[in-house]
Amino acid sequence: MSKYIFITGGVVSGIGKGIVASSLGRLLKSHGFQISLLKLDPYINLDPGTMSPYQHGEVYVTEDGAETDLDLGHYERFTDVNLSRRSNITTGAIYQRVIQKERRGDYLSGTVQVVPHITNAMKTHIRSLESEQTDVVIAEIGGTVGDIESQPFIEAIRQFRKDVGRQNILYLHVTWIPFIKAVGELKTKPSQHSVMELRRHGIQPDVLVCRSEGPLEDGIREKLALFCDTELPAVISCPDAEDVYEVPFRLRQEGLVEQVLERLQLTPPAAFNWEGWDAWVHQLQAATRCLRIGIVGKYVQLPDAYLSVTEAVRHAAAAQGARVAFVWIQADNDELKAQPEAWLAGLDGILVPGGFGLRGVEGKIAAIRYAREQGVPFLGLCLGMQCAVIEFARHVCGLEQAHSREFMPDTPHPVIDLMPEQRELEDLGGTMRLGAYPCKLTPGSRMHTLYGADQVDERHRHRYEVNNDYRDTLSQHGLRFCGTSPDGLLVEAVELPEHPFFMATQFHPEFKSRPNRPGPCFVGFAQAALAQQSASEEVTP
Ligand code: GLN
Repeated sequence: MSKYIFITGGVVSGIGKGIVASSLGRLLKSHGFQISLLKLDPYINLDPGTMSPYQHGEVYVTEDGAETDLDLGHYERFTDVNLSRRSNITTGAIYQRVIQKERRGDYLSGTVQVVPHITNAMKTHIRSLESEQTDVVIAEIGGTVGDIESQPFIEAIRQFRKDVGRQNILYLHVTWIPFIKAVGELKTKPSQHSVMELRRHGIQPDVLVCRSEGPLEDGIREKLALFCDTELPAVISCPDAEDVYEVPFRLRQEGLVEQVLERLQLTPPAAFNWEGWDAWVHQLQAATRCLRIGIVGKYVQLPDAYLSVTEAVRHAAAAQGARVAFVWIQADNDELKAQPEAWLAGLDGILVPGGFGLRGVEGKIAAIRYAREQGVPFLGLCLGMQCAVIEFARHVCGLEQAHSREFMPDTPHPVIDLMPEQRELEDLGGTMRLGAYPCKLTPGSRMHTLYGADQVDERHRHRYEVNNDYRDTLSQHGLRFCGTSPDGLLVEAVELPEHPFFMATQFHPEFKSRPNRPGPCFVGFAQAALAQQSASEEVTP
């Protein structure tokens, strides 16, 4: 039977519950445990797939094609475990299941209620993560304790204690200890209140992970232990880290693992082994160079919208001894279109990530043209690849009005068009080409060299594709189709052989990039960006 760790958040959101869950996952895995992670999201959408990145940050895609919360990206990057669609569930999806059963008649003659029907469905879902191979399930509840909408989840995990037994469950509360400048003090009161709220719902946290600007002094710990009725060693200080990847070290030093093992009566199956995590974080800290990478997108006010992309660039740069300074460029900007050099000069690389909708597309195309003509390393992802194809068709092949049908349905040159299987669909939620699909790499291409394989699996999230009617024209003018579906019918990636580095993918290589295994497209991009940056222009980190 699996053991369960439930992670709740206190005081405010955005204090890094997801990073704590991921770091704990990393630590348990390093002790040899088989782990699984789960995010319980209290909102009503079935998944975040239909939400704007401004609402929700990035939509992370799993191998099996689920559109999930961005915390799953942290989970996978920190633990190097591929999760499935079961690892993210929303209140909406739980209600949908219960209502479907009600319509089927499964509850005939009964009243369907939050307790027990909704809470039971939540518990059933949580238990679906259990398996003979899984030692520990780490489940994080979105939002903050006290939110109206997360109450059924809180009730479900309270009941869970009885179902699995006290020794098989641990409640971990991540809370915030603000520093009040005027009095020069860390304040525990908000955390006392959030623990009180949790206890009001019948949950006594076993472990408190306290987020604060600086480390907690003993007096503050004692106060928290006293007022929150938690053992002193279980009050774990987790001050702001320079980099999120350092958090597992801090939590280990603070004795989090011992608390978990003791509470759950677990004995590690193996000696602790960082599995390269220490080496990679050291590499990150020791980086001496700094790459200036421009990201041209329309959600740039919220960098979380591109989280896996920036992490993948950071992984690849660290492997080359460099940090990354991201320059965020709003694609929906007339000046970028008119004078791209004013915005893009001095960058070591330009990246155009994925996206939806017309806004900002012309700015992205202008940036890609600049990168192509000026020999600046360029990486395009999904919509970024589609824009690169449009740019090439317009300015190299002379198809002036080339466009994607997503943005101009009556374009005379739909170089990007809807996939046939997408034409009949009515629902927008969960109906894209999603998840891992194989991609055949063209021998002799730069991409083939970077991956060092003839075929790879990468994750997808798109409706549109390169239109095969234009493939001959595009390739005759020098665009190389370096990746296609195994049957050759879908273009998966393009590159320009004569350019220092110009590569674009229909898939999203960022989702499979791991700190210790950076995505090959990002490695090529970072190498080219470093080569581009002359030693004299070195920017101090
Ligand atoms: N909007 C484009 C499509 O649906 C690209 C999607 C993306 O960038 N994820 O094909």
